[in-house]
Amino acid sequence: MREKSVWEEHTEADAASALYVHIPFCARKCAYCDFASWATRAEDPLMNAYAASVLHELSCLEEAGLLEGTETAYIGGGTPSYLGARLLPIVERLSSFGVLELTSEANPDSLTADFVSSLKEAGLTRISLGVQSTDDGVLAALGRIHSAEEALQALSSAVSAGLSVSADLMCALPGETDEIFQRSVCDVLAQDVSHVSVYPLMIEEGTAFGRRYGGEELPSWNDPDIQARRMERAEKTLCTHGFHRYEVASYAKAGHECRHNKAYWTGRNYLGIGTGASGMLSRAAYRRLRTCLPQLPDIADDIYRVRLRNTSTRPDYAEGHLQRLHFSIELLDRRQALAEDLMLAARMSEPIDASLLAAARAELGGTLDRAIQTAQEEGLLGEGLAVTERGWLLGNELFELFWDLAGEAPTRTLAV
Ligand code: SF4
Repeated sequence: MREKSVWEEHTEADAASALYVHIPFCARKCAYCDFASWATRAEDPLMNAYAASVLHELSCLEEAGLLEGTETAYIGGGTPSYLGARLLPIVERLSSFGVLELTSEANPDSLTADFVSSLKEAGLTRISLGVQSTDDGVLAALGRIHSAEEALQALSSAVSAGLSVSADLMCALPGETDEIFQRSVCDVLAQDVSHVSVYPLMIEEGTAFGRRYGGEELPSWNDPDIQARRMERAEKTLCTHGFHRYEVASYAKAGHECRHNKAYWTGRNYLGIGTGASGMLSRAAYRRLRTCLPQLPDIADDIYRVRLRNTSTRPDYAEGHLQRLHFSIELLDRRQALAEDLMLAARMSEPIDASLLAAARAELGGTLDRAIQTAQEEGLLGEGLAVTERGWLLGNELFELFWDLAGEAPTRTLAV
């Protein structure tokens, strides 16, 4: 029998290498946010029941053998820190799986110094704090609930507790000038964080900003030139302070890259737990998942990869009956999985992985080489097949080139 390539070993594994837990509760809905999150009262009993259901689902996945060898776990939201003490048993349980990196997202208004110490004691290794800006006027315009001072204090507490700390910033915001943005970058750097993510604000349908600013023309403060200029400025500042850009929006000091996010971008299996959470599994891992979720349909042998998203409501999830949960499902064949992994690889600064390229070449032949040649001629890919600055700026063109390799067959979708 032919030996499996590294790409095949990763993408055909029968367990999950990464685990994502979604906490869909926030103190207040920010004006730009289209994530699966809802403003909820701190004392709402739904949060207790939801946290209990997460623990129940984790036990079932462990029994099914899906967590053997899981390397990273990430608790995102919503605002996981808004769960307060209810978050601790979840962190302890995830830590008990022996993961190498265990991250929780947090917001400054719900992260006190005592809480951060308890999280560290429970096994958390990393925190990702939603700062967005360190200008109070900009924060108010975004509908953020915290002040700049609270954000900087929370960063400082997390660093002092010995966690690896990431700060999330956004750019091209209402009321933000180049100087305000630059100050935000410098302010988070001054707290000695080891990772920074920077995203341009997107005006999404169905949000307060979508209703206020949506339409044909972007407001002047969100102009694509402003977005590009601020992203460039962030790169310059962060790179002169010992950070490197390892993904289009992510900067880290050496050794502090987010291992969990890298799993998403390198075709590893990951499981999503909770309302609104997404997962991506090989055929073998998906079949194992069906022992916990028998309502999921069996799949044919020509399916290489399954993407699934939990579409249950929060009260349904909080009831704890796994077999009653709802999912939307996408089925990808091998060609589509390869095209998807090439697209994801194009987000990162490392050259495209040789094993992925070899598998793609074996499946796609000359069409892959033609796509690569076009990308090089257009300056999107450079030396050693690493994405260029232009490739990042014109990301959609590169993604399209790779996704076209998936061929004509439509992705099959199902809902249960
Ligand atoms: S805190 Fe985060 S998840 Fe919650 S509403 Fe604001 S942006 Fe959305």
